Amino acid sequence: MENSKAQQFALVSISELGSSSPSSPAVARFSAAGNGVAELRFQPESESAAPVNVDLQAAKLYKLGPLQSVCISEGSDTGKEKLYSRGLTIQFKNEEESGAFHHAFEQWETELVVEGSVSKGKCLPNGELTSCKSKFDDKIEPSSAKMYFHYYGQLLHQQNMLQDYVRTGTYYAAVIENRADFTGRVVVDVGAGSGILSLFAAQAGAKHVYAVEASEMAEYARKLIAGNPSLGQRITVIKGKVEEVELPEKADILISEPMGTLLINERMLETYVIARDRFLQPNGKMFPGVGRIHMAPFSDEYLFVEIANKALFWQQQNYYGVDLTPLYGSAFEGYFSQPVVDAFDPRLLVSPSMSHVIDFSKIKEEDLYEFDIPLRFVASVGTRVHGLACWFDVLFGGSTVQRWLTTAPGSPTTHWYQLRCVLSQPIYVMAGQEITGRLHMIAHNAQSYTIYLTLSAKMWGPGAEQGGIIQSSSCKLDLKEPYYRMSQPQPYVMAQDQQPHQQLHSQDVPIDSQDFEDPDFIPQPSPSSGPKITLAEFAKYKSSGL
Ligand code: SAH
Repeated sequence: MENSKAQQFALVSISELGSSSPSSPAVARFSAAGNGVAELRFQPESESAAPVNVDLQAAKLYKLGPLQSVCISEGSDTGKEKLYSRGLTIQFKNEEESGAFHHAFEQWETELVVEGSVSKGKCLPNGELTSCKSKFDDKIEPSSAKMYFHYYGQLLHQQNMLQDYVRTGTYYAAVIENRADFTGRVVVDVGAGSGILSLFAAQAGAKHVYAVEASEMAEYARKLIAGNPSLGQRITVIKGKVEEVELPEKADILISEPMGTLLINERMLETYVIARDRFLQPNGKMFPGVGRIHMAPFSDEYLFVEIANKALFWQQQNYYGVDLTPLYGSAFEGYFSQPVVDAFDPRLLVSPSMSHVIDFSKIKEEDLYEFDIPLRFVASVGTRVHGLACWFDVLFGGSTVQRWLTTAPGSPTTHWYQLRCVLSQPIYVMAGQEITGRLHMIAHNAQSYTIYLTLSAKMWGPGAEQGGIIQSSSCKLDLKEPYYRMSQPQPYVMAQDQQPHQQLHSQDVPIDSQDFEDPDFIPQPSPSSGPKITLAEFAKYKSSGL
């Protein structure tokens, strides 16, 4: 858009919040002032009413409904003291007009920043935005963000999450059981999706909920919320990125479901932490407040052979007369660079698990860019170790009830399943032997992580006394490109229904995970305890690796 142009909109009416003057039809005009600063002027039709000038640097526009919006501005800023914020309620003729006005508002506002007419950055109640690019845009590749929000803009993917009854049911229970944390409170739903958690918070008596959602799902959330008016009147949907939107007040509590595969996939924890810093009152609550990544070495001969065999195709020397073997090595490497996502039997674990705690209420956003976790386990059995198994849980530290949502193997299955990093070179261990290593995960700009795993064990036998001979195996994986092992028989189901043929030691491994400290941890679920979610349904982003 060019500065010299102006844009005009005829509005059905405008009325000032908190003022007794009646609403009046008006014209809104965006234009560039002489100094290059864009301005928005509302001119009421009635001659007697004064025009309202809005400083686009300090103004925000929110949709109240399909035909109604509110424009909040910082009062006049003429060098004197700041006045209180003022709000203008705007009524549009139709949805197209509303959409066009919002679009124009965004463009004029963005242009202002791009043109550099704001030298110091915008001074807004939720923190400074110093450039036209937000914290999100700075670190995430636009094509990744586009696919990501396109994915979440579709109802079927929101439905997949809603149909994970372990997930949604645990959120519901955690909110309703902890009513005291919501009643009369201001809540922000970080990445609201369909708006389900906002509706739960309203059910628990929230005074007001701001549901922030960047994808087109925000429009569906508005519909869902409007269709539940007794709750909906206390919910405002704000379409935009958490990193960019402005809210009119601070929150007492944040609610969010930012967990991806292995907890950290999607890099939405960073968004959650940014929401904390921008919107949460000091000492406000976060639901959930803590997350833990659990890790343990596993042995699964069947899985290992399955992956290694995938590359065998490239060992053909006469594929329609072509020798495919030059690509065998690359194919083999490629298959082992995919973390495996499925539900496995916890008896495949070779030792008790260890965990890495992430305190959402304290961690700095930058500390989520890289995790470097030293590993140490003691093998419970002698076996071949094929890699590292990982899962996570999160805690709702309510003031009435503390509740964990767990994705542990052996617990009722969720759409996150578990994740396994498979080594192309297994290592041999004896019962009682120490396994050490390192799990190093580095965030990348496609909303995921590169994983570097090393596992080592001291060899027994000659040389062991003199410091030992180390067997060590490493691999590099991309968390964005998992292998969904869902068309295969599920180990978890198999272990319950029939004797697993590949488990060499399945009865021998004592599962003595740290998770037993959790009051809610269920080590041996009954065969019927898992949700019956069909595997094909799990095309959800969180587990689709898009
Ligand atoms: N809260 C919903 C949806 C969870 S999925 C539920 O529990 O069912 C995560 C949602 O967060 C997606 O809809 C996604 O579009 C949204 N989201 C992710 N990053 C965001 C960001 N930076 N700003 C706003 N919304 C975001």
